[in-house]
Amino acid sequence: MSRVMFPGSFDPIHYGHIDIARRAAKLFDQVIVAVYDKPLKSLLFMPEERIALAQQAMSQFPNVSVVGYSGLTVSFAKEIGVDAIVRGLRVFSDFEYEFRMALANNRLDKSIDTLALITSEENTFLSSSTVKEIASYGGDVSSMVPDYVNEALKRKYRNLSK
Ligand code: ADP
Repeated sequence: MSRVMFPGSFDPIHYGHIDIARRAAKLFDQVIVAVYDKPLKSLLFMPEERIALAQQAMSQFPNVSVVGYSGLTVSFAKEIGVDAIVRGLRVFSDFEYEFRMALANNRLDKSIDTLALITSEENTFLSSSTVKEIASYGGDVSSMVPDYVNEALKRKYRNLSK
């Protein structure tokens, strides 16, 4: 049985992530969306909020599950026994970052391979930071994220402005 892990911060999950998970779920028997606990980024949502939104998004795919993790991605990949790490690629700058990460992870653990799926054309521009930037100014992100993520963003920015 093929098992892969799709790690990320998912702050928050958007249609670009969901598309990668959907396509990975067609290629592999089991996909584990793994939500970083504390990446070196300033995050809007707490880990449990990011996990809950990702769970809601993935509930439509029977062979996709969501877990949170902390520490090294390769260590977690080994712990849960996946065959490979799946990542998404949008623009050229992603490639450089993903290339370096894949090589570093492979140096840490030769048994873990990284596979990259190219974004679907309509999601090329989509990133969690773009979604957050637009939402923080009250812009419409309904074409970029599911309704429950849109609501969570509105709630978050309302609370932050209090
Ligand atoms: P990270 O902090 O690890 O980059 P993200 O949540 O930003 O976490 O992204 C997780 C993965 O999803 C990364 O491989 C990223 O390249 C990919 N990804 C993000 N947005 C898109 C998109 N619009 N299309 C395809 N892949 C994407």
